[in-house]
Formats: sequence, structure tokens, C-alpha cells
Amino acid sequence: MLFNRRNTEALTLSGALEPALDHDVQISEVGPKKTLPSSLISGKQKNWVHLKLKLTLIKIIIRQYNNPLDWFKGLRFLISLRRQFLGDHSLRKMAFVDGKYYMGLYTPGWNDKIYERFIATELKHFKKNKTNAFRFNHVFLAITKKCALRCEHCYEWDNLNKKEVRTKEDLQATVQKLQDFGTAQIHLTGGEPMLKLDTVISILKNAPKESNFWMNTSGLKLTDANTRKLKQAGLTGVFISLDHFKAEAHNRFRNYKDAFYWATTGAKNAINNGLVVAFSICMTRDFVKEDHIMKYMDLAKEAGVHFVQFLEPKSVGHYKNEEVALSDGQMKLLEETFLKMNFSKDYLSYPIITYHAYYQRRQGCFSGGNRGLYIDTDGDINPCTFCHRKSGNILDADIDEKLEQLMLRGCPEF
Ligand code: SF4
Repeated sequence: MLFNRRNTEALTLSGALEPALDHDVQISEVGPKKTLPSSLISGKQKNWVHLKLKLTLIKIIIRQYNNPLDWFKGLRFLISLRRQFLGDHSLRKMAFVDGKYYMGLYTPGWNDKIYERFIATELKHFKKNKTNAFRFNHVFLAITKKCALRCEHCYEWDNLNKKEVRTKEDLQATVQKLQDFGTAQIHLTGGEPMLKLDTVISILKNAPKESNFWMNTSGLKLTDANTRKLKQAGLTGVFISLDHFKAEAHNRFRNYKDAFYWATTGAKNAINNGLVVAFSICMTRDFVKEDHIMKYMDLAKEAGVHFVQFLEPKSVGHYKNEEVALSDGQMKLLEETFLKMNFSKDYLSYPIITYHAYYQRRQGCFSGGNRGLYIDTDGDINPCTFCHRKSGNILDADIDEKLEQLMLRGCPEF
């Protein structure tokens, strides 16, 4: 059995470092539990939903343009855009969570206003339209330097557990700035954002519902009560770091003896409370072998998570100056796994895989101030979480210029 049934509320933290929790949520503050339906859909059910989704696309195009010729061209543009990302592979499965359908982790769930604005924004690459477009698709916002873990690959290693420089007010102002720009997804990260739970909750409660909010976490303290509270405050989903199918190996990699417990228990609680859940794995050289990947995907399937994100290790943070890049053969294996598990009929019940490097190798970088951005624990803007080159502070008065500079410098890798 995968999951330990210890009482999560009674657990105390333990590990290499134990910064105090910003705020322990009182269970009595949380409303009654409501379990929401959540599943992967495929076959006829998926086809029906996909058909309705396509009709929505046509509706959005018609709303944006007056000329019927643009309707056809707009639809053709969206189809070619999809091909650019997925090739000629047909969509096989979708995740259904709390009334919305998700095709990927970086596409808003269908169907709501954020989804419609996202599509209208993409259409602007075809032709100007009436929508107030999203400036960013996704922004990673690091809200704390605190962390209880000491992960082997940590990209914020040099800043971990240093004195915080950003106040709750700075963070609120940053979220407002991002929403003024127009941002479809804001990913709260760190450090460990669960160590700043009251800040997360207050950000979620105060922000207008113009963005989807996600959290990138180790799973620490993702108890049933806390996940319920996050859901009620407006969180869409969580990326939970899980780097191995074996508890000891994951705990060793994360240098924290309860890391596996929290990742798997946190996933279960998040699913039960109607959040979209992804396991995120750093695919290290030692790990990338066919049987390892399969065992990991079996675990993810059994855990019931909707997505798995494959990340390739980068020489940044704690990995700086280390040779961590995968071999060509390993990348090929990951790409084959990604295609096989997402697009063949044999793996319909497995979580959907997101694999950025697959697209980056073909389409270039989507971050770097273009569709995405990383705001670090000092509030400085960087091309992405793995590419640390500060270009100014998000709250600077001349942020537009700074963003231009960041975009001009581009991504050094893709
Ligand atoms: S990778 Fe994340 S969880 Fe691990 S030490 Fe760094 S901030 Fe903490």
C-alpha cells in the first residue's frame, strides 16, 4: 500500500531544518467538507467534451471578429497552433476536476472566462481583436525564502532560509501588478509556500478572480484541513514535487525524512478537496531508466493525480557548475514515454504528462518575459525558474522597460 494512514493533523515536522510555520490553520475555521468529483476522461466521453470545447472556440472567434473570413482563418490558426504543440497526435484524455476540463497544466480549464480570455489572447497572434489580452500565460511568484527541505537540485539554494525581504503587502502589490498586466496563471512558489499559509490564503482571497492560482510545493503540511481551506480561498491546483517511487530515495533527494509521506498524503488530500493535482519530478541521470519511469507512473496512477510534470535537471542553484544534463538517449526515452502515455490507447488511465523540454526543443522558449516569467524571493524578474538573470524588480516604476530588456536578452538555452 502506498499511503501511510497516520493522522496528518497530529504530525509534527521533522527534518534538517524546521522554520516555524507562519500560521497553523485552525480546523474549526474551515467549512464543512464537500468531496468534489474528479477524474480522467477518455473515449466517447472525452470526444463529446472535446466537441463542445471546439464549439466554444468557434463562439470565441465569432465574438472577436466581424468578418466571416476571419472566422475560418482564426480557426485554422488555432488548429495550427495546436499542431505546433501536439504534432498530429489526437487528444486522448482530459482531466475533469470540480466542473472544469483540463488538457494540460498550462492551459486554463474549460470552460470559464479565464479560458475564453486565454483563447482570445492566443488569437491575437493571428489578428488583433477586441479582448484585453493576457500579457503572461504563467508567472512563477516566489513568496518566501523559508523551506524545511534541502533538496539536491534546489534552484533557490543560495537564498534558502535567509532573511525575508518581501512583505505581505509587497506580495499583494505584485499580484495586483500581474493582474493589471493580465496573467492567466500565477504559481505561488518559494522556498516552501506552505510555510506561509496565511500569506497564500490572503493573496487568494484578495485577488480578483481574473487569474488561476496554483501552488508549487513539496506537499509539506498539505493536510485535509489546509487543502480544504486553500480550495475555498480559490486555489486551482498544486504541483507536488515527487522525485522517486521509493520513499527512501525521495526522502534522500529532498534531505527530509517525511518528504515522501507529505508528497503522497498531500496529493490525496488535494484530490479529495477538488484541486487539480500534478506530481512534478526532476528526471535525474540516475533515475531515467525505462523501468523506473514506469514504476513512477504506476505510483502516480494509483495516487490518482491528474498530471505528471517531467522536468530535466539544470545546472542552477545547488546544481550550479555540476554536470547534470541528461544524455541524448535519456531525453529520447523521456520523449517516447511522453508520446506513448499521452497519445496511445494503452495508457488512458494514466495521468497526463507535461514535458516542457519536448516543446522547447521544437518551438523554443515560451518563458523569458514572453509568455512566462519568474519573480524570485527578492521580487526580481528572471526569464524562468531555471534561468536566473535578474532584470529589475517587478514593483519598479519602469518595469515595462525592464521587461523589454529581459525579452531582448532572451533564453540562453532555447
Ligand atoms: S527545491 Fe523547493 S522544497 Fe526543495 S529545498 Fe528548494 S525550495 Fe525547498
